[in-house]
Amino acid sequence: MTRRLTMALPSKGRLREPSWSLLEASGVSPQEPGERVLQSHCLNADIDLLFVRADDVPEYVQDGVVDCGITGLDLVHERGADVEVLLRLGYGKCSLQAAVSIEDGAQGIEDLKGRRIATSHPRIAAQVLEDLGIEAELVQVTGSVEISPRLGLADAVIDLVSTGSTLRTNGLRSIGKIFDSEAVLVGRSGSTDFEARRTLTMVLGSVINARANRYLLFNVRKELLDEVTALLPTKGSPTVMDLATSGVVAVHALVPASIIWSLLPKLEACGASSILTLPVERMVP
Ligand code: AMP
Repeated sequence: MTRRLTMALPSKGRLREPSWSLLEASGVSPQEPGERVLQSHCLNADIDLLFVRADDVPEYVQDGVVDCGITGLDLVHERGADVEVLLRLGYGKCSLQAAVSIEDGAQGIEDLKGRRIATSHPRIAAQVLEDLGIEAELVQVTGSVEISPRLGLADAVIDLVSTGSTLRTNGLRSIGKIFDSEAVLVGRSGSTDFEARRTLTMVLGSVINARANRYLLFNVRKELLDEVTALLPTKGSPTVMDLATSGVVAVHALVPASIIWSLLPKLEACGASSILTLPVERMVP
């Protein structure tokens, strides 16, 4: 099918900037970016964009207003939307955590039995409490969940946490995590034969994969090659090339960005020299 793809993007809030920069890095940025624009087309791709609140994206996709969209995984579950998660995007990471005031004696979620819990995620909270067999009263609030205990509205909260600094600032302490979230690309359930959607998922996925990796290059004497390459992650095989200087080879490999800091000193100690790491733009495994 070759019709134009329609996609909902967060128009404001935490997921806006990283979502727009993901589209830019993927070469499909909006044609008329701007704070007040509600609709746009993509550069270089047959995609029509609709800018809406991240909260509204799950319903828009479920109801077929758009073919796909970017939102938080927490919002997909909280709305109970019948959509398909096409891709985890690796940003907007946070978790729903239960927290109590620092003076409270509760040690774990099971200690919330019979207590009042404020949350803006009542559906996920109710499901988790039911699964754990904990009966508690949920108080639904739409914002500033973390001040509910101080206002006397609740004994505890179930709220989104990324660094934990908002909890600490409000005199709260986490007593357990109940749900992990991150930004996701979602599509309508069941429309798998949609070529443009598959292409978009692949292109965004290639950028997400690339961001997590670095291209590593170094030189090493041939007799040390086995020892040095044994330090590299086992996935994939490094490229080894002879240099003009006899007895020395250049090694190229793709490595996870997260291990670079610990890998480089080991490579150097093992005899590698002229070590370079480069960012990767796209990666299709
Ligand atoms: P917004 O309300 O538009 O700023 O977007 C909120 C969404 O951003 C949430 O539903 C989460 O998916 C995501 N998010 C990531 N980190 C946090 C955080 N620390 N607090 C709240 N939302 C977060």
